[in-house]
Amino acid sequence: MKLDPWFKTPVHEENARYMIEDEDEDEKDQRRGSMETNRTLLVDAHAHLDLLGGAEEEIRKAVSMGVLAVIGVSMGGESIGRTMRLREKFPGIVLPALGLHPWQIDKEDIEETLGKMEENLEQAVAIGEIGLDYKIKTKKPLQKELFTKQLHLARERGLPVIVHCRYSHQRALLLVEEADVPRAVYHWYTGPLELIDAIVERGDFISATPALAYSRMHQEAIRSAPLENILLETDCPVAYEGEEATPSTVVRVCEQVASLKGCSAAEVAGQTTENVKRFLGKTWPERSA
Ligand SMILES: [Zn+2]
Repeated sequence: MKLDPWFKTPVHEENARYMIEDEDEDEKDQRRGSMETNRTLLVDAHAHLDLLGGAEEEIRKAVSMGVLAVIGVSMGGESIGRTMRLREKFPGIVLPALGLHPWQIDKEDIEETLGKMEENLEQAVAIGEIGLDYKIKTKKPLQKELFTKQLHLARERGLPVIVHCRYSHQRALLLVEEADVPRAVYHWYTGPLELIDAIVERGDFISATPALAYSRMHQEAIRSAPLENILLETDCPVAYEGEEATPSTVVRVCEQVASLKGCSAAEVAGQTTENVKRFLGKTWPERSA
């Protein structure tokens, strides 16, 4: 694969100095503004930072490699607390998304988790990771009920949603449309290509993972969707062909998308970062800049 020279530029000094604890807000905005004009930066739009070993170090490493922000998704009670703590350590960089994942339904006190979510939603940028997984044993009606409940919460709060679906793409899409949430991303999309038009028409997104290296279905989906409707993500710490992803792996995903689309990695970085801003809308931390 031909690498874009953009990625070969050395770590920017501005980036290395990014984490300055006692900096005031104006200074931070100024420095950030100049970083954005100097170089197009990437966003990892889906990371399980609470499950990532050495998360703090990995976040710093990603920032030094040109990662502007990481959307830290959560799956339930414990994970909500851990994600919120990382947000406090990396304000404006770790952007928390809160949700009850279908895999956790049986393992959580549902009411307690939903309560915890609501308490912290003021600081969250999105609701996720939520959705439907028809490959697991948890009853479909219960999954649908909880997914719908969280979709309604997203609409009420004006928040976008991060959707997990397996063997349930059509249903998930219908529920998202019915709930009329502001925006949705169908993460690691490997669903039917026929649904992509409806996703694009609603102004929603699909996201690309490192599985692009080997998954035909995923490659086809990313090839079919317009670049304006694609986000980049790692779903870290998921291991792809034995290699555990970290937020820095998003650089590779950007290269993979560029190679599939036949355009430059810089173009993919620029467009997908714009897409994240559109996806988040009012919760994007740079919105006032
Ligand atoms: Zn995930």
